[in-house]
Amino acid sequence: MSDPCLFCGAPTREIVTRVVDNRFGSPGEYAIRACISCGGRQTFPRPDAEALKGLYERWYNYGGKTDSGYAAARERFLFSPFYRLMLALDGDVSFHAAKGAGRLIDIGCNEGRGLSLYARNGFAAEGLELNTHAAAAARARGFVVHEKLIEDFRPEAPFDVAVLSNVLEHASDPREMVRHVRRILKPGGQVWISLPNADSALAGLAGADWINWHVPFHIVHFTLPRLMRLLEQEGFEVTAAGAVTPALWVAQSVIARLWRANMDAVVRLQRKAPLVAGLMALARGVFFPLLWFWNVTGRGDCLVVRARKN
Ligand SMILES: [Zn+2]
Repeated sequence: MSDPCLFCGAPTREIVTRVVDNRFGSPGEYAIRACISCGGRQTFPRPDAEALKGLYERWYNYGGKTDSGYAAARERFLFSPFYRLMLALDGDVSFHAAKGAGRLIDIGCNEGRGLSLYARNGFAAEGLELNTHAAAAARARGFVVHEKLIEDFRPEAPFDVAVLSNVLEHASDPREMVRHVRRILKPGGQVWISLPNADSALAGLAGADWINWHVPFHIVHFTLPRLMRLLEQEGFEVTAAGAVTPALWVAQSVIARLWRANMDAVVRLQRKAPLVAGLMALARGVFFPLLWFWNVTGRGDCLVVRARKN
C-alpha cells in the first residue's frame, strides 16, 4: 500500500506514526507519510469529503458565540498597540500588520476578525467562508462574505490580494486550490500564504505530538521547497518567504508533549489561558534566542510566503 502523493502521484512512505487529534480530541489514530520523490507529506488515512464535513461540524466549528466579555476584550486587544507589538515580536502569521490598497479576499475568513484588520490597513476586504454561523458573524461586522467553495466562486471583479492564512493545509487537493486562487486574482495580483512548516525544529522535537499535524483536519503538510515548487508550477513567482515561530504554537506543543498520556488533559489545558500565557511568556521571554535561531535557519514553525501571479 503506497498511498500516492497528493502533489505528484509518486509513492509515499510512513515517517510518523500514532498521531492523534491533540487539538480537539476527536477519535482515531493516523500516520504521516512522505513522498519519496517531491518531499510532500500527507495525513493517512484521509477522511473522505462526507466524513470531513461531519468532523468539522462535530469538533471544529465556530459556534456563533460572540457577545461575551471575552470576545469584546479580544476585539479591543486586536486593535491596540499591544497587538502590533506582539505581531512585531512574535511574527505576523495572518498578515494583520500588512498595509496596502485594493481588493482583498480572505479565504476561510471565519468570523471576520482579520477582515476588520485588513480594512483598517487600507484594503477593500471580502471573505470566503463555508461555515454559516461564522459567515453571519463576519457579515454583522459589515463585510461581504461569500458562502462558497472556491471552485464555485465567481467574483464580480478579480482581486489584488488573496489571503490563505492557515488554510491550504486543510485542502484535499491543494494544487486545485492554488489554481482557483490564481483564477480569481488580477494579473500581477498576490497570494499571501501562511501554514505550518513540517520541517520545523518543533516538529522534529515534538514528533507525533507536534500540534500542527492537526489530524485529521490537516490533509497535507508543507515544507518550504514543496510550497515554493507548487506555486511556481502553478504560475506564481515567490516574492518573499520566511519562517516564524508563534509563542502560542510553542506553548501548545509543550502541553501536548508533557501531558501526552492523557489526551483529555491536553485538550483542556490548551484552553487554560493562564497556563498558555505562562508558557508563551517563557518561550518569548527566555527561549527567544532559540526561536530566533530556528526562524533564521528556516526551521521556524510557520511558513509565511508571498507570491505574485505571473
Ligand atoms: Zn510527491
